[in-house]
Amino acid sequence: MLAPMNSLLLTGGRVVDPANHFDSPADVLIIDGKISAVGRNLSPPKGIEHFNAGGKIVCPGLIDLHVHLREPGQTAKENLATGTAAAARGGFTSVVCMPNTSPAIDTAGTVALIRERATREGVVNVFVAGAITKNIAGEELAPIGGLKRAGVVAITDDGHCVQNHELMRHACQYAKMFELPVMDHCQDYSLVTDGVMHEGYWSTVLGLRGWPAAGEEVIVARNILLAELTGARIHCQHLSAAGSVALLREAKKRGVPISGEACPHHFVLTDAAVAGSEEFWNVDGKGLAKFQGGALPEWPKYDTNCKMNPPLRSARDRKAILEGLADGTIEILCSDHAPHCDYEKEVEFDYAPFGITGVETELALSLMQLVHAKRLSLAGLIAKFTENPARLLSLNKGTLSVGADADVTVFDPDCEWVFRAEESASKSRNSPFNGWKLKGRAVATIVGGEIVWSEKSELVAA
Ligand SMILES: [Zn+2]
Repeated sequence: MLAPMNSLLLTGGRVVDPANHFDSPADVLIIDGKISAVGRNLSPPKGIEHFNAGGKIVCPGLIDLHVHLREPGQTAKENLATGTAAAARGGFTSVVCMPNTSPAIDTAGTVALIRERATREGVVNVFVAGAITKNIAGEELAPIGGLKRAGVVAITDDGHCVQNHELMRHACQYAKMFELPVMDHCQDYSLVTDGVMHEGYWSTVLGLRGWPAAGEEVIVARNILLAELTGARIHCQHLSAAGSVALLREAKKRGVPISGEACPHHFVLTDAAVAGSEEFWNVDGKGLAKFQGGALPEWPKYDTNCKMNPPLRSARDRKAILEGLADGTIEILCSDHAPHCDYEKEVEFDYAPFGITGVETELALSLMQLVHAKRLSLAGLIAKFTENPARLLSLNKGTLSVGADADVTVFDPDCEWVFRAEESASKSRNSPFNGWKLKGRAVATIVGGEIVWSEKSELVAA
């Protein structure tokens, strides 16, 4: 806690605030945890601490609306303190935690427990997503009105997917009534069955059971129809397949209240990564190998850090996700940060749990694939981490407007560094990007005017 007064002057940075169409060199003055002014030649009160943001980007605090903090009940993998510490290191000032915990977050009491614990132990703001169905079992609706009153910002059965369309329709009707977005992990169980990787060339070569792209696309189509039928806002989580992007693009043109998110692993890696680093760098990773330099990161065949749900897909799917991000079809970026213990992942591919960590690498990977690769402007990328998730969830966040909460991220888009999973602030190490050279890194994370994490103390007394 370097700035106990919650007041701070950030000087010399390039301020990018997409919600206000602002992109210019400017200072940002924070007083009592709120944005007080943005501009040049500000006159701060005497004695206020200065933070030199020269050469850096200063933007609204980044929001990750898809994070598994594993509380309650799975704290060997992660807890509120470690998960939010990792988020802060990644440049995130707010996260939304998923309800597939033990027990599931499907009652007002559990929501209250997480919110109360998060204020004591969390380093960044924690917003809670409640379950759609009791125990995420897909059979009976959770008390959606009670969850809303307890403060959830959305409902989702993430990790699972409501298969019964009539039940999902009712969930949408309640969500609409309570003005909650429905976030959906799109997976058709009858098509996916027990698939563990993308169904395609590599699943055949490796002899692993396939998880076909259609297993996602069918549910995206279902969600479009239900959003149209009920008028509820449905948000499709972690899109991985080309067909999903095409469906979403067409539906959005018609004005259907539907949206989508993408995670870096789906637009950096492909299913070739499951066949090991050599296969990946030789084929689908060619374009990325140059930046890694001579010593390419290595991993074995059947590396369980390449197992997630939905799975890494083909190069064609990856291209479609990138195009969807570039043309605005996919409005939101997030990590699906899913920590697991080493002993859980150190098993045969078939038996390993799905998921990888992500909050510390997502900003860099997004910058690399979208901004440095010239697919998207810097403001366009920042909007997908700030304004857009805030709008979906009706959070009073995601801007540097005067009077807004002083959640601010300072990052260096050009900083080159190597991610070492063992240095992560997360409890878990399950990242496929261990040893990768990355470009772009958070320098300081400011929540309510307090620097909760900074790369190095650049504070100088005024
Ligand atoms: Zn999911």
